[in-house]
Parts: sequence; C-alpha cells; structure tokens
Amino acid sequence: MTAGRVIALAGNPNVGKSTLFNRLTGLHQHTGNWPGKTVTNARGRCTFAGREYLLVDLPGTYSLLAHSAEEETARDFLCFGRPDACIVVCDATCLERSLNLALQVREIAPRTVVCVNLMDEAGRKGIHIDRQALEAALKVPVVAVSARDGRGVEELLQTVERVCSQPEKGPQSLPVPEEARRAVAVLEPVLRQQGAPLPRWASMRLLEGDASLQKTMAEQWRWQGPMLEQTLSLAQKELEKSGLTSETLTDRTVSGLARQAEQISRSACKSKGRSRAAQRLDHILTGKWTGIPVMLLLLAGVFWITIAGANIPSQWLWEGFSRLGEAMSVGLLAIGAPGWLEQLLVMGVWRVLSWVVSVMLPPMAVFFPLFTLLEDLGYLPRVAFTLDHCFQKAGACGKQALTMCMGFGCNAVGVTGCRIIDSPRERLVASLTNSFVPCNGRFPTMISLITLFFAASAVGVWGQALSSLLLTGVILLGVGMTFLVSRLLSSTILRGEPSSFVLELPPYRRPQVGQVLVRSVLDRTLFVLGRAVTVAAPAGLVIWLMANLTVGGESLLSLCAGFLDPLGRALGMDGVILLAFILGFPANEIVMPIVIMAYLAQGYLMEMDLPALGVLLQQNGWTWLTALCTIVFSLLHWPCSTTCLTIRKETGSWKWTALAVALPTACGMLLCFVIASFSRWVGLV
Ligand code: GDP
Repeated sequence: MTAGRVIALAGNPNVGKSTLFNRLTGLHQHTGNWPGKTVTNARGRCTFAGREYLLVDLPGTYSLLAHSAEEETARDFLCFGRPDACIVVCDATCLERSLNLALQVREIAPRTVVCVNLMDEAGRKGIHIDRQALEAALKVPVVAVSARDGRGVEELLQTVERVCSQPEKGPQSLPVPEEARRAVAVLEPVLRQQGAPLPRWASMRLLEGDASLQKTMAEQWRWQGPMLEQTLSLAQKELEKSGLTSETLTDRTVSGLARQAEQISRSACKSKGRSRAAQRLDHILTGKWTGIPVMLLLLAGVFWITIAGANIPSQWLWEGFSRLGEAMSVGLLAIGAPGWLEQLLVMGVWRVLSWVVSVMLPPMAVFFPLFTLLEDLGYLPRVAFTLDHCFQKAGACGKQALTMCMGFGCNAVGVTGCRIIDSPRERLVASLTNSFVPCNGRFPTMISLITLFFAASAVGVWGQALSSLLLTGVILLGVGMTFLVSRLLSSTILRGEPSSFVLELPPYRRPQVGQVLVRSVLDRTLFVLGRAVTVAAPAGLVIWLMANLTVGGESLLSLCAGFLDPLGRALGMDGVILLAFILGFPANEIVMPIVIMAYLAQGYLMEMDLPALGVLLQQNGWTWLTALCTIVFSLLHWPCSTTCLTIRKETGSWKWTALAVALPTACGMLLCFVIASFSRWVGLV
C-alpha cells in the first residue's frame, strides 16, 4: 500500500462533520443535532485507491481566531500539525456562515478542499449552489455531498487524492488592510527568517494580540531569546502610527471575512430563504410564553409513553428471568452443587441481575429512542435557547441545558459533554451540578415509588398520566436546584460574568427512524445496561453475603442498617434505605433491590411485582413521607462512582470531585430533613 496521508476535517458545528467522518471511517462517533459536539480530535482511518488516510475530526468551530478552546485546538492542529490536506465541511443550507471558516482554513492549510454537505436538504429548501462559481471565488476545489446518504463522498475522496498528489500551492492569504501593511512589513520578514511556515498569517494574528498563538508559536518554532517580542513591539508601534490597535485590527479582519463570505455566498447560492413553517414552529417552541410550557408538555409526554410502555414488558422479563432462575436452581442441585452455592448464585446474583434488567431495560428501551428522536429533529438546541435566559440569570451558560439533557441518560456522559462549554468557569458549574438531573439508573426507583404511593388511587391511563406529571415535577425540582446551586457557585467560589455566545438554531431535520432506533439501542441502552449488569452481579453477591453472614445472631445487613437508622429517620427514611443508597454507590439502579433484600427476612430477593413491593414496603413502615423523602434523596445525593471518576478526570482535581459529591448530598439531606420535620410537626404523618 502507498504511504498514508493525514487529512483534517474542519467545519462549523452541526454541519454533518461527524456523519461524514463516520461514513469515511466506518467509526461510530455519536452524531446529534446540536452545535459543538465534536470536542476533541477524533481520529479514524480509511483506505481509498490503495492508499491509507488518517482522518482527524477537528472540533466544530465558526472561526479560527481562537476565542474558545475548540477554535484553538482546530487552529493549532492545522497550523502546527501540518496535515496533508484539510476538508472544510460546509452547510449548503447556510453557506455564508460556513464560508467564513473556509476562508480562514484556506489561509493556513496547505491544501484545502471544500465539501458542501447537506445538499439534499438544500435541494428540498429550494437552495441552489453554483459549484463552479464557488470554486472560482475560493480558488480551491469544491465537492457537493450528502453525507447522510453517501452521495458525493467518493468524489470527495478522489478530489482529496488529486489535490494531495499535486505540489502545495502555498497559502491563500486574505488581503492585509492598508493601514496594517507597514506593521506586517516589519514582522513578516523576521518570522520568515525564523522559519515560520505562515509568516503573513502569523504576523496578522500576532498584531491582533493573539496571546495563545504567540505562546504556542514560541514553543513550536523555538524562538530565540526576546527577539520576537522586540520585533512585535516595533510592529505594534507601526500599527499605532497608522491609527490602529490590536482590537480595531481584529475588527477589520472579522468584518473583512464576513464581507467576503457574504459576497461569495451571494454569487454562488440562490435561496428562497428559511421556510415559513420552520419559522412558525420556532416561534412556538422558543417563544417567550410558549417555549417553557411546550417543553414541559413534551417532557411529561415522553415520561408518559415511557411509563405506559414499560410496564408490561417489565412483567414479562421478570417472569422469564424467574423461570430461568428456577431452571438454574434445579440444574445446579442436579450436578451436586452445595445448597449454599445454589442459594448464593440464584437467590443472590441472579435475582439482583434479573431485577436490574427487567426494571431498567424496558424504560430505557422506550425513553432513549424518544429522546434521540427529539435530538435528531433539532429540538434540544431549542430547549437550550428557551432556558438560556434562566441560565444567564444563574451566572451559567445556556449550553448547560444540553449537558443536562445528556445527563438524563447518564451523568457521566453529561459531565463529559460539559466540554462543549467554552468558559472553564461555566464548565465547572455545569459539571458540578450535572447530577441534579436524574440519570436512567434513578428513574425506575422514582417511577415505581410514585406509582405505588402517589398515583395508586388513579388507575389505568389516569394513573400513568398522574405518574408522569409527578415525575415531571421531580425533574423540575432537579432543574430548580441546578439553577439555585449554579447561582450560588457563580456568586461565591466560581464568581464571574456569564459569557455571551450565539446559540444557533439548527434547521429541523427529518429524523432517520431506523438509525435512531439502532443508535439509541446500541449506543445508549446497551451501554448503560452493560454497566448496570456488570455492577449488579457483584453487588448481588455482596448483598447476599451481608444478608446471610451473621454476627451475634444478627445479619451484617441489619446491623449496618440499625446503625444508620437514627440518621435515616431524621431524614424521613430509615437505616435500610440509607444503607441501600450507600451500597448503591457503584450504580444507582441497585438501590431498590438492596432495600427489598434487607426487608425480606429470607435474605434474598423474592419474586416480586409492583403491588407485592408496595405491600412489603408498607409492612416495613413506609408511608407517603418515606416514599417522598426516598424520591427526593434519590434525586439529590452523591453521584455514582463512574460519574465521580469522570468528574475527577474532567476537572483534574479531587477537590472539585469532593464538592460535586458534597453539593447534592447536602441539598438532599437538608431538603429531606425539612420535609420530614415539617410533616411531623404539622401532624401530616
Ligand atoms: P457535526 O456537529 O458537524 O458533527 O454534525 P453531525 O454529523 O452530528 O450532523 C448533525 C445532523 O445533521 C444529524 O442529525 C445528521 O443526521 C444530519 N446530517 C448530516 N449530514 C446530512 C446530510 O447530508 N443530509 C441530511 N439531510 N442530514 C444530514
């Protein structure tokens, strides 16, 4: 095979870069319809015409003028990583914005190929792209592509191959403003002499006061002594003499780019504009008075479908698992396994595993596809848009809404997702508060307790409707606490101004239902379930041992529970529940199985459907107050071990991780204590 080539993939957020990357490399990077998902450089390989290509997916950015961590990463890779070529993925439905970036990439990448993606959507919207005109204006090859169905991808690769086999053309610099020419003339020759590959471009950025670039350049190109600084200050003086400062020069560059992008786009693309239907829909979904009610209705609707759709399969799964368990028992005894081993494996490990799978799988299998569907339609960025104002008021960033949405699936994923937030301060606020939205491991506990204790009187559809409304209420409590704690953090230890950013409303897209199903089942459901199962099996073992090992006639489980009982009661729960939360640290989904095990004198999980669970809980002194406090504590307590490790990895500090544990725990304890004390004081229980 011929020697490999390194190709960078640049583009604005949400232009289909990940889709193209996946199509080229066969990798399954998660795609979704919201801005800024690609936060680190994903890499993948593809082979074309007997040659291997290493594709580097750069973070989605609007510019390379380095205002954010993503822009810096993309710029540094193009500038210092020196790939063989760069594909700039553009959005055919809003070409002007994409061209702004293409013009900047063209300045630094040795060979640029513009890939105009989403051609199918442009066609539907009546937008026509004149490819020749675009090529002539940009002076780089242009290929029209629909990454989603693969049209044009082959031609794109051919073009990349052709461009790479030709000699480098040299950078296509943008014109230097008249007033800055003298300053550039001072700096450029010195940079060239030092061996800087892009002396004109680098001179302009240094004069614009790009400190991070200056630092990286000094490291990468090993500047000798203070020479750069001296030349730079000479050049800056020249700039001042011409009446410009670094800020006004930056403004010139930015507006020059915007003008050029607009001109090219006007000459190369004819559009009828955004459809009226989309405008009307946005009016409702993000409207001042309608945005939040519609969001709540949708949320409650999703919960309703989840609750209603999960009940029956849950029952089937549990029955199926029980039968298998019985068969296992018989089998084990038949091969002469000792009684205690059979008990441990079937009553301990197998039963907890069955509970986790049959209680968790059905809601996940319904919830994730629905959620992915909303994501694919383009609704999630609209949620961020609707809540942006509230986040601003809390001193946080509107994009936090997106990370919270990711947290619904799994808080560890939500915390990693916080990388889409540029400001380190706001990223921390978002990471520290992510566990205030319940992850999928906590939903089943909440759903079953709400159904048993608060919606039991309403049957059938009404019961499900009431349950979903109450669950929405619980989520709202979590969201409210997020605002409150974010506000608290940003006015104390994480003080600072909320950054302003332009939140983009991506176009609505017809979701690909088949892909949504595959993606949500494979990427999410199986991933979360796999994690739960790997934790549940050993947890089942530990719990069985704790329930069966006795000290002085009492099981370890009840001894520990007894010790925690006074604190548990003060918080409206009891020692068993508190112990279950502690033992559930590896994964939240095993909290209820532990509670059940501890209550059952036999020391293992009995066959149990929801009404039987209700009876068991009531026999052990549960009232609506116990259920309420358990739900609240399930919402507000320490994040699970995976999330804690992720927070540690993302923040690089155990101190922030400790705070991420302390914050929700303190809130939960306080709230439970207040609820319990108040209810007892007023005589409600
Ligand atoms: P990124 O943020 O640039 O990585 O964008 P993604 O690859 O995540 O794509 C964003 C959305 O655009 C997803 O919903 C994709 O399914 C959709 N998409 C990507 N390419 C195309 C395309 O060629 N046509 C259409 N109609 N949709 C596309």
